[in-house]
Amino acid sequence: MTSEVVTRFAPSPTGYLHIGGARTALFNWLYARGRGGKFLLRIEDTDRERSTPEATAAILAGMEWLGLDHDGEVVSQFDRADRHRAVALDLLETGRAYKCFATQDEIQAFRDAAKAEGRSTLYQSPWRDADPATHPDAPYVVRLKAPREGATVIRDEVQGDVTIRNDQLDDLVLLRSDGNPVYMLAVVVDDHDMGVTHVIRGDDHLNNAARQMAIIEAMGWPVPVYAHIPLIHGPDGKKLSKRHGALGVEEYRDMGYPASGMRNYLARLGWSHGDDEVFTDAQAKDWFDLTGIGKSPARLDFKKLENV
Ligand code: GLU
Repeated sequence: MTSEVVTRFAPSPTGYLHIGGARTALFNWLYARGRGGKFLLRIEDTDRERSTPEATAAILAGMEWLGLDHDGEVVSQFDRADRHRAVALDLLETGRAYKCFATQDEIQAFRDAAKAEGRSTLYQSPWRDADPATHPDAPYVVRLKAPREGATVIRDEVQGDVTIRNDQLDDLVLLRSDGNPVYMLAVVVDDHDMGVTHVIRGDDHLNNAARQMAIIEAMGWPVPVYAHIPLIHGPDGKKLSKRHGALGVEEYRDMGYPASGMRNYLARLGWSHGDDEVFTDAQAKDWFDLTGIGKSPARLDFKKLENV
């Protein structure tokens, strides 16, 4: 028996639902729906300065227009901060994380010295193996005791095996000196608690995956299947930006584009199924697979979009 597929879309509510985000949501939705699995929605609102309720509303409205229904309640990442903190404290108590009392000046001095001596400037905290009896009464951050030997291999369904040497990763800060959990920890804990089996997201998060895996492994949790999708480029091959034209999903809705055509168009941005250009929802759900996702960035072609 294979276990149920659970995917998620985890946008940061800092703006409208743009084409790239909508495509990520669609891929996750297609993958889950085509396999009788669940598609969950998590709003990553931990950045209180940049997150707005208007952006959350715009993302929800965009998904609704596209027909990307999600299962269960919308999860707010910010609301789960206590749980994220509890996981960090668990790692601390069991010696898989440690209190680091280094000040910013000390860390800078370490880096300057390392640079001058031609060594890696990756910070190595002297507190990693310090006896708690020597701990000062001073502010500290909680750092993960990340492995220093060997390598982390991200087995990515799109990118193939991506190997990162562990000595290229520092001991990730899990809790800041004000006790607040960092984003990287929140993602790992939320994905685990929500039972996410497949993480399908933009390849701008590929580097995060190695650090996230270090937390997952420290917790002894199963590593999800990763699929990092190449970002979408404009017709000129450059990173997509406003100067390329309309990028917000709601702009297309307001221009009268049909949602079904938009879904078809988004599905084909980076994914293909033979020579088929137009397909029904049922076919898309049936055919969609991670192996059909291309390794190079999809190009947004506004001319084709006019035909939807
Ligand atoms: N919140 C991130 C973003 O909007 C996504 C993180 C993830 O999918 O793990 O880019």
